[in-house]
Amino acid sequence: MPKIRASGLTRTFGRGSHQLTALGPVELDVARGEFVCLVGPSGCGKSTLLRIAAGLLRPTTGELELRTDATHPAAMIFQDYGIYDWKTVLANVRFGLDIQRVPRKEADARAHEWLRRMGLSDFAGAYPAALSGGMRQRVAIARALAVEPEILLMDEPFAALDAQLRTILQDELLALTQSTSTTTLFITHSLEEALVLGDRVLVMSARPGRIIAERRPPFDRPRTGEVRSDPRFTA
Ligand code: ADP
Ligand code: MG
Repeated sequence: MPKIRASGLTRTFGRGSHQLTALGPVELDVARGEFVCLVGPSGCGKSTLLRIAAGLLRPTTGELELRTDATHPAAMIFQDYGIYDWKTVLANVRFGLDIQRVPRKEADARAHEWLRRMGLSDFAGAYPAALSGGMRQRVAIARALAVEPEILLMDEPFAALDAQLRTILQDELLALTQSTSTTTLFITHSLEEALVLGDRVLVMSARPGRIIAERRPPFDRPRTGEVRSDPRFTA
């Protein structure tokens, strides 16, 4: 049974002569533990699809279903981090746990553990404004993963970062999602990034975005930066 399923999904904006169909129809199945990348040109409806998945936007027709239970929800990471500037780094990471009513002591312990894994222990009490872009995105990743989501939705999370940092965070994300078997839908406009990360890559057409091709990387891909930079793997 897929963890994410879309069928006949479309979204139209505006009305009358100003009507614009942004997305679809999209059919999509993502299996448990799968890392699926959705790649397509700017404006093809990628963010629209992810906002529907996150419940921030209604579809015009069709449906998109996330199959999670209440204790292991879905989490979303945005390109612009979406962290709260008025909360400390620790409070940002604890945010989802507070919503889940995880007891304070346990929430603190889990938040500190995620800060440690993301190399942010020294910044628990800092405010996001004091952090670099890469660190802010790490806070967003820690906040999303701290709730131990069954499903992770990511909308071009590394697009604003420099190439070196992007590679580091890609590796961290792969290691984390693999070790936790998190079902991941990752959106990018970069085919290269999609091929590095995805168990499966879905290619979208220009607006209205439909899935027009599907690719599975042809071999067991090098999963970490160390292996990936090995000349035998870089064609
Ligand atoms: P992508 O993320 O692939 O770049 P989007 O999903 O952001 O594309 O947008 C797809 C299309 O829908 C674009 O033409 C965009 O201008 C339009 N669009 C997105 N959101 C809205 C909105 N709230 N109102 C009107 N048009 C929108
Ligand atoms: Mg977008």
